[in-house]
Amino acid sequence: MDQSRRKLIRTLLGSAPAAFLLRGSQANAAEKMTLQQAAYQDSPNGIYSCGMCTFFEAPKSCKVVAGDISRDGWCKVFAAVD
Ligand code: SF4
Repeated sequence: MDQSRRKLIRTLLGSAPAAFLLRGSQANAAEKMTLQQAAYQDSPNGIYSCGMCTFFEAPKSCKVVAGDISRDGWCKVFAAVD
């Protein structure tokens, strides 16, 4: 992973509530962020998309954001899979 990508990921993770991320894998629908809270968009952010995010659950869900999630979408909680 190059330095600029690491910096971007750190910046994005730094903007997310830490407790939220720690509990992400255990969150139920009532605890998830809304699409609006996550600033979700149906299109990628440059080369980054839900399909390469650690929180994405195929075929169209997310561990931390409620609602239908496109593999090609993106939100501000994005965290790249290593
Ligand atoms: S970028 Fe990640 S956290 Fe955000 S909606 Fe997509 S899968 Fe979920």
